[in-house]
Amino acid sequence: MVKDDCIFCKIAAGQIPSKTVYEDEKFRAILDISPASKGHTIILPKHHADNIYELPEEDAAGIFVVAKKIAGAMKETMGCEGINILQNNGEIAGQTVFHLHVHVIPRYQEDNIAFSWQHGEPTEEELETTSEKIKQAIKAFD
Ligand code: 5GP
Ligand code: ZN
Repeated sequence: MVKDDCIFCKIAAGQIPSKTVYEDEKFRAILDISPASKGHTIILPKHHADNIYELPEEDAAGIFVVAKKIAGAMKETMGCEGINILQNNGEIAGQTVFHLHVHVIPRYQEDNIAFSWQHGEPTEEELETTSEKIKQAIKAFD
């Protein structure tokens, strides 16, 4: 399924040119136009999903296989010392293009990229309540 007026649907379909590093029947991986670091790649499913909630399980599994291929290739060729795999859902999480995509971001010394948060200190009881809540919700999905 392709969504009208979705730029990533058009890029994934090859209607808008991109620096494609990988393509198969279901995915296209392209260089990010405003990269966080040299080689920053985004993987786009060819079928539109706004976010992870809409993504079919088959594409969820497949997109990580593509991320692994790209990560391996980057490690070989880009001289990076590490790689972050990132996937944003919702504006609050930093999503700016509402066609799901996975970022593969090579990391270099002094690349000035920062992913940071303050670590919480939940009680044992809070951890238990939270884990139960999520566990029950997962059961409801299955
Ligand atoms: P998000 O913030 O939604 O997780 O990531 C969107 C990413 O897509 C950003 O890193 C942005 O630079 C990239 N991007 C946005 N528009 C285009 C485009 O037209 N072409 C390419 N190659 N990347 C894009
Ligand atoms: Zn789309």
